Amino acid sequence: MLQTFFSRPPHSGRSFSASAPGSVLTLPWHMPRLSKACVVPVFLPFGGCHARCVFCAQHEQTGQTPCPPGAPGGVRADLSAVLAAARRELESRAARGLPPAETAFYGGTFTALPPAEMAACLHFARGARNGGLVTSFRVSTRPDRVDAAVLERLRGEGCGIVELGVQSFAEHALAASRRGYDRSAALEACARVRAAGLRLGVQLLPGMPGHSPADFAADVRLALDAGAEMLRFYPCLVLEGTELARIWRGGGYAPWPLDVTLGALAHAWLAALEAGVPVIRMGLAPEESLARSLLAGPVDPALGCRVMGRGLLLAVRRALRRAQEDRSSFAVQLPVAAQGYVWGARRELRPVWEDMGLERIFWSREPVVRILLSGI
Ligand code: SF4
Repeated sequence: MLQTFFSRPPHSGRSFSASAPGSVLTLPWHMPRLSKACVVPVFLPFGGCHARCVFCAQHEQTGQTPCPPGAPGGVRADLSAVLAAARRELESRAARGLPPAETAFYGGTFTALPPAEMAACLHFARGARNGGLVTSFRVSTRPDRVDAAVLERLRGEGCGIVELGVQSFAEHALAASRRGYDRSAALEACARVRAAGLRLGVQLLPGMPGHSPADFAADVRLALDAGAEMLRFYPCLVLEGTELARIWRGGGYAPWPLDVTLGALAHAWLAALEAGVPVIRMGLAPEESLARSLLAGPVDPALGCRVMGRGLLLAVRRALRRAQEDRSSFAVQLPVAAQGYVWGARRELRPVWEDMGLERIFWSREPVVRILLSGI
């Protein structure tokens, strides 16, 4: 019968020795965080996008209607309204005594916005910074729309982070999704962002057309090696109104099953944790419009906790394997934060842990996982 304790386990101070009785395997388990600042987003669905990518339905994903183009040289009316609403939200936060936030321009290709619209966004961000409402801002964009000049301009305006919607570095997946750039262009874009003194975020799309779990594992490695300081994983979904929906209906695309997605994300999340890089989003936010337009794909409201539970299990299993442990029972000391995900959803992982030989769990405030091999 598995038992849990709110205390440090006996022998937890011992150093690891693979074969000694009572030995302890220690895994650093520090959950990286980006910043404490609250992000107030400004959504610009398809703003600056020169074409619509096969899988993309930004208006359904963000719950916002796409901005119709404004008069030549002018600023579309709804952009002005969106910026005014964001300003009101920031002012309301300040009036409630909340600390300055960060603002973010999401949902399109920020660096390819028409000049007047980019200027309006930067004017808004500058005003919010000068007024002490935000500390910084971030933008999301495509790898093939970032040149040194626009990055320099963003940096000069107080931008801190550029998130690149790379989706994948795999040539065949990029071609199958008609992204319009290749792996070297994506890697060069990552390097350019960093060379401009901006922090790099990379968004990946596991399960996009032509993509395999092995591609995704390689994508995560490449993104980390390219200096990504944060990652987002958006498993590919088939949404009504997209080109992918048409291809899916014709039998030319099948989304990854949920169990494959959970396994691939668990490996990816663990790789990021071990590299000290936060995964700031897994899966699309649950918008009502998204649920209405979803045709197929791996959606799960408990995705994050199911992935992290599998990641923890994977880390412990690997450590036991590395130590060539064939003991039939062990205990673990886990950080208290892992209480929210150790069993996945609806305790689905508990039998797996028990089959592995887990007998006791000790909860601790230490950011480590300790595996106590015997003498418990
Ligand atoms: S560039 Fe990004 S926002 Fe624009 S259509 Fe493609 S995926 Fe969607």
